[in-house]
Amino acid sequence: MHSDLQEILFTEEQIKQRVREMGAQITKDYANEEIVLVGVLKGAVTFFTDLARIIDRPVAFDFISCSSYGSGATSSGQVAIKKDLDKSVEGKNVLLVEDIIDTGITLSWLLPLLRARKAKSVKLATLLSKPSRRKVDVPVDYNGFEIPDAFVVGYGLDYDGRYRNLPYIGVLKPEVYSK
Ligand code: 5GP
Repeated sequence: MHSDLQEILFTEEQIKQRVREMGAQITKDYANEEIVLVGVLKGAVTFFTDLARIIDRPVAFDFISCSSYGSGATSSGQVAIKKDLDKSVEGKNVLLVEDIIDTGITLSWLLPLLRARKAKSVKLATLLSKPSRRKVDVPVDYNGFEIPDAFVVGYGLDYDGRYRNLPYIGVLKPEVYSK
C-alpha cells in the first residue's frame, strides 16, 4: 500500500469483479441498442476503459471535462465546462461514466445539460458514491460501491494530480491534504 494512504477500501480484484457485474448489467439493459459512453475527465478514465471492455454492445467514446473541485479536497459548488463533447448526442443513448458522486452538484448540472441536447436517453454509471455527503439528489442507474465520507484516491481518482495510477482505491491520510 502507498505510504500516503491510511487504508485500502477496494482491492484491484474487488474493483475488477464489480466492474464486470456492472458491464454485464449494462449489456443486458441495452439489448439491440448503440451507446455513446461519455467519460467525465479525468477521474473516470480508468473506470471508463475497464467498463467499456466489458460492455458487449456497439459503443462510441466521447469525453467531457468540468471544473468543480480545483486542486483541493472540498467542492467549490461552481461548475463549468472545460472541454465539451466532440460530437452531438442528439438521438443517441448516452451513458455518462463518472468516478464518484459526492455532493451531487456536478451531475445535477451535467445531466440536465446532456438531456437538453435531445439525447434519446441519458443514464448514469458511477463507480463510487458517498450518499451521506449528498446536497442535491441525483438518480444513479449503475452504482459500483457506496462509501463513507472519506477522501479517496486511486483507480483514476487523484489528489492534486497524484495517485491516479494506483490500481486500488484507498483513503488518503488526512495529514497529506492538510499539509
Ligand atoms: P460533486 O459535484 O458530486 O460534489 O463532486 C464530484 C467530483 O468531486 C468527482 O468527480 C471528483 O472529481 C471529486 N471528488 C469527490 N469526492 C472525492 C474523493 O473522495 N476523492 C477524489 N479524488 N475526488 C473526489
